[in-house]
Amino acid sequence: MKSSSTRWVYLLFCFLQGVLLGDENDGRLNIYWIDVEGGAATLVVSPGGQSILIDSGNPGQRDADRIHEVITQRAGLDHLDFLITTHFHLDHFGGAAELAQKLPIHAVYDKGIPSESPDRQRPDARFPLLIKPYRDMNVGQRHLILPGSEIPLRQRNGSPPLTLRCLAANRQMIDIPVTESSLICQEEVPPKAQDLSDNASSVVLLLEFGPFRFFDAGDLTWNMEHALVCPVNRVGKVDVYQVTHHGLDQSNHPSLLRALEPRVSIMNNGVTKGCGANTFETLSSLGSLQAMYQLHRNLREDDHHNAPEEHIANLSKECQGLPLRLIVSPDGTSYEVEVSRSGHRRRFETRSTSDQ
Ligand SMILES: [Zn+2]
Repeated sequence: MKSSSTRWVYLLFCFLQGVLLGDENDGRLNIYWIDVEGGAATLVVSPGGQSILIDSGNPGQRDADRIHEVITQRAGLDHLDFLITTHFHLDHFGGAAELAQKLPIHAVYDKGIPSESPDRQRPDARFPLLIKPYRDMNVGQRHLILPGSEIPLRQRNGSPPLTLRCLAANRQMIDIPVTESSLICQEEVPPKAQDLSDNASSVVLLLEFGPFRFFDAGDLTWNMEHALVCPVNRVGKVDVYQVTHHGLDQSNHPSLLRALEPRVSIMNNGVTKGCGANTFETLSSLGSLQAMYQLHRNLREDDHHNAPEEHIANLSKECQGLPLRLIVSPDGTSYEVEVSRSGHRRRFETRSTSDQ
């Protein structure tokens, strides 16, 4: 009798923990865009309870604290399984060393830590000093990520396959069989001057959960974006597009966007950074796009370049730094975007597999 009541107390505890923390075994996939004020920090929590952080925001306690809060309080986890750094700019790798002091990071993937500034146009002489905490941080394994690399994610029984693949890194791209070139490539969109910064070397990632597809290209720039889909589309179509490079106009090539045909865009912009006029127009002109979301309201003078207010996670400069959350259903056939500040929650259908 006593053991039975103990068991019930235990089951009740598990249930309440699931309700409070978001049950990591409920089969859903979660993605959080953490507000690092114009940097990048995207947390994926797999249905099997594994966590993958793509980029780690800026140096200092603010971003590491915000990332730590989302991992521990919102996702209910006590460690990070994987950290992936898309490229070596401070707003993408800067928070990693502080985060590593707050919780264990089991594995780090990057495209190889440069010893000198990877920006050939305007090299930053301070780079060796800035990269030192990242190089020295106490983490588990270190791995190189290359085009074709796959992060070894645990699959959950009963869930659709979950994969996270690298499509490009260090200006190299995955090889795919040459098929007919896309009509999109016939558009006359002029190239920009060659980008010699590390942005053009960004790691490009594709996350797939059953039919659901999410694209994150770090800060990849114009000419490389074009090469990714022309003459052949190496990505396919996607459901959710993390607006590349915080929405800056050096990125978000119209051919890439027309090839990917996203239904939802999520922009990790800052109050004055990103959300560029051309990017905004390109996104707005996409026939496929059903909704745009932003981490911040654009507070520049061109404030007509903003998503609807209820789709924006933070409205003012002095803000709580709230994240955006996306929840994919256990079978991958639909997903919801949640904006906690406004209480907005909207459901979207995943593209059908035949529509890829
Ligand atoms: Zn950036």
